[in-house]
Amino acid sequence: MEIKIELTKHPKEKPSSENLGFGQVFSDHMFMMDYTEGKGWHDPRIVPYGPILYDPALMVYHYGQAIFEGLKAYRTRDNHIVLFRPDENMKRLNQSCERLCIPKVDEEFALMAMKKLIEVDKDWVPDAPGTSLYIRPFIYATDPYLGVRPSNTYHFLIITGPVGAYYKEGLNPVKIYVESKYVRAVAGGIGAVKTAGNYAASLKAQQEAKDLGYTQVLWLDGVERKYVEEVGTMNVFFVIGNEVVTPELNGSILPGITRKSCIELLKHWGLKISERKISIQEVFEANEKGLLKEAFGTGTAAVISPIGELYWNEQRVILNGGKIGELSHRLYDELTGIQYCEKPDPFGWVVPVV
Ligand SMILES: *Cc1c(COP(=O)(O)O)cnc(C)c1O
Repeated sequence: MEIKIELTKHPKEKPSSENLGFGQVFSDHMFMMDYTEGKGWHDPRIVPYGPILYDPALMVYHYGQAIFEGLKAYRTRDNHIVLFRPDENMKRLNQSCERLCIPKVDEEFALMAMKKLIEVDKDWVPDAPGTSLYIRPFIYATDPYLGVRPSNTYHFLIITGPVGAYYKEGLNPVKIYVESKYVRAVAGGIGAVKTAGNYAASLKAQQEAKDLGYTQVLWLDGVERKYVEEVGTMNVFFVIGNEVVTPELNGSILPGITRKSCIELLKHWGLKISERKISIQEVFEANEKGLLKEAFGTGTAAVISPIGELYWNEQRVILNGGKIGELSHRLYDELTGIQYCEKPDPFGWVVPVV
């Protein structure tokens, strides 16, 4: 399939690379293609970024058949633009499609389209330290129909925009509320894929935690409210004694690419990393014994987000004196070093765009 390109006649003013926020500014163009039952994916095109007019009965508005991905393009010091493990995002996009009964896309074609879009908007990739171009591929149901079944038509879009740090705290440790009332997901549900409904389900807990002065919630398992699952929209790691622990993928945890990369780095460094069940009780007991050294979240948006404080069951734990832990710092430096091509890339994670 050939990608048609229609360039904008009204380029927007770009924000300065300093003081960039997250998810508020979008580049000049977007990628789009359509799916029609019997015809497959068709009409791939890059067009000016802008609103799309839809029928109010659009299935996605009512039943949430929608999936997405999130990754970044980085401008290197010598002015190349690179992606970090984008093949993993494409693979996960199709896993999400599979779970939501959405027709799969050709992963190589989608990656090629993404690179093309970034090339068209290459001047939107910011150059200040720590900034990047956030890339959001997503697919949603477009039949105008009020009945519950998989849609027969879909739109696949990729939008992009320059971003700075995800949390205003940056690499500073955040305060986390351990959520015992609400749950994010259960095994057999949709927690392991990136679909819109998971985030709708998380808002209430997030809002209540915020009102209490916390940045994010730590999710426990949906059945017993006992085992740690994720932190906000990130995977979570704990350093207990000389063991690094992250919850094993159990069907309700999102398999993060940053999580996977951290596990691979920790193994490469010869550290003891376990993917296993870990109860919140164990975390608090480790702290009482003086063994809980660090905890941090991992995700594309923030990379590494150190946890400075945990609140659970009327108990408060301050980690590492509320400061960034040694391992959090090392992982952050290594991952961002590889992403901006300032450190060797022994695993071949970085893919050039231009
Ligand atoms: C996207 C996401 C993550 C992190 O995945 P990365 O691939 O590392 O960005 C973790 N948990 C949830 C719920 C997510 O949506």
